Parts: sequence; structure tokens; C-alpha cells
Amino acid sequence: MKCGKQYDDVKIWNTGKAPRCQSCNGVILSHPVYSHVGIYESDYQKANDWMSRTELVLIVGSKGMYGTYFNRRKQGTRLVQINPQSTQFDDVVDLNIVKESDEVFELLS
Ligand SMILES: [Zn+2]
Repeated sequence: MKCGKQYDDVKIWNTGKAPRCQSCNGVILSHPVYSHVGIYESDYQKANDWMSRTELVLIVGSKGMYGTYFNRRKQGTRLVQINPQSTQFDDVVDLNIVKESDEVFELLS
């Protein structure tokens, strides 16, 4: 987006149309999904901190590792992946559930 303004309220995605910036009218993109760059530094630090205290990590629908925070997981952390496709996590997870996440979470509801 041209002006660089940051929107943190997830409700902007529930309006039924592509959200636009109030300042420059640019289309707001989901970060980092469509920008293919690192996440905000403060969030990255938070992810690192959380990963260092994990006992269980659910990897849901992710194609791969973005950044290095995954390697900061606490030793002995159990890893569960939910993904219908093969990913780079296949060889490291303790449990690999090869299904759509909607299907799996529906069973838990
Ligand atoms: Zn803008």
C-alpha cells in the first residue's frame, strides 16, 4: 500500500469486499501472506518468545517455515501437523494428520 499505514483490526476482513485504506484508498493486503516478506519485528520477537516456551505446536495449513522462529521451539516440544498436502514439516512432526483442517476441527467441536 502506498502510504504504508498498518491496520491491525481483523474486522476489516469481514466487510464482504476487499478492504481499502482510509488514507490513500489503496487495497489492504494481508501481511505477510501477500507481501512475501518478514512479519513486523515486534510480532517476530513475540513469536520467538512463544516458541521458546512451547510444549505443543500445531502447524495448520502452512506450506513451509517462514523465518527462524520454528527452530527456537523448546526442546521436546511435540509437533502436530494438519495439512492435506505434503510439506517440509512431514519429516519432523510427531503426528501428521493428512486432512483438511476444517474437517479435523469439525471433529473437535
Ligand atoms: Zn493508505
